[in-house]
Amino acid sequence: MISERLRRLVPYTPGEQPQGREYIKLNTNENPYPPAPEVFAALSGFDPAVLRRYPDPSASRLREAVAAEVGLSRDLVFAGNGSDEVLSFAFFSFFEGGRGPLLLPEFTYSFYPVFCDFYGIPLKRIPLEPDLSFDPRRFVGEPSSCGAAFANPNAPTGIGVARREIELLLERYPRDRVILVDEAYVDFGGESVVGLVESHENLLVVQTFSKSRALAGMRLGFAFGAKPLIAALEAAKDAFNSYPLDAVAQAVGIAAAKASAYYREMNRKVIATRERFSRSARDLGFRVLPSSANFVLASLPARSGRELYSSLKERGILVRHFDIQGIRDFVRVTIGTDAEMDALLAQMRALADDRAP
Ligand SMILES: *Cc1c(COP(=O)(O)O)cnc(C)c1O
Repeated sequence: MISERLRRLVPYTPGEQPQGREYIKLNTNENPYPPAPEVFAALSGFDPAVLRRYPDPSASRLREAVAAEVGLSRDLVFAGNGSDEVLSFAFFSFFEGGRGPLLLPEFTYSFYPVFCDFYGIPLKRIPLEPDLSFDPRRFVGEPSSCGAAFANPNAPTGIGVARREIELLLERYPRDRVILVDEAYVDFGGESVVGLVESHENLLVVQTFSKSRALAGMRLGFAFGAKPLIAALEAAKDAFNSYPLDAVAQAVGIAAAKASAYYREMNRKVIATRERFSRSARDLGFRVLPSSANFVLASLPARSGRELYSSLKERGILVRHFDIQGIRDFVRVTIGTDAEMDALLAQMRALADDRAP
């Protein structure tokens, strides 16, 4: 009964969301702090009577609020049910194999290859530098491609690319192919290129409220781009589901968009904790990549990433391990509260001592 099409697919593996045992949960890059007070107010003031009607299919007021935050007009913004959905629509709308493969960094958000598989888009992985940073200029030399996509800061490395580098890429890359920049983590120290969408017709910037606005449970994702790109995403949406954002999500999204001051402060705390944690972990003998995101990639010489992951899990701390050649030695650790990171550091100290001769 199952289609050949589906049987051939390898789905994305989401991070564990344990429902039984209580873990210190540092595996899916959620924010350790609560959403803004404005979000609580929007929820408690929400009138369930409006649920009788379908929501606004194009989420106009939400797009307006999000656009205002980044200084763009509403028709340069698309809203979807989490940025995974926005990415899926974008891959469907802009990338197809006839013009060559989609270019991706070798290690990047592992959902991109799944979308390629789903839509039959050939892909080409472009190697990272020896320090695991990504140089977008490497896209320029490729003889053919139907577009390029990368996360900035990158996942799971956490390493960011400077705005200037992306400008150089835009100058040199064919203007009739979309460059998709996924800024899921940009508020933790990355450099956004959202301001460039007015001057670059082939740039699509994707953002989410899941990480830096502490709303992973609400599913709010956005794309910013020139009008024809946004119109294409609207068409793709209307071919799948006309109402991806329910009325509650739209109301909460508007409140969150307007609470930037609260979130800036909150994310400053996450950044400070990340820097402190990274220093302490290095002092214990761990290798920690420099991160501009709300997670770090860390390894301990002479221990595999899988071992680190399982020993920490036994000790009540969930981190993420990717069984992928090249980053297999690492675990990805989400930055939690200071107390959570101190608990993790205590376990990391024990693991590092264990290893000592
Ligand atoms: C978490 C993440 C997303 C997905 O975010 P949602 O809006 O929760 O779907 C997209 N891209 C990257 C790089 C991510 O890490």
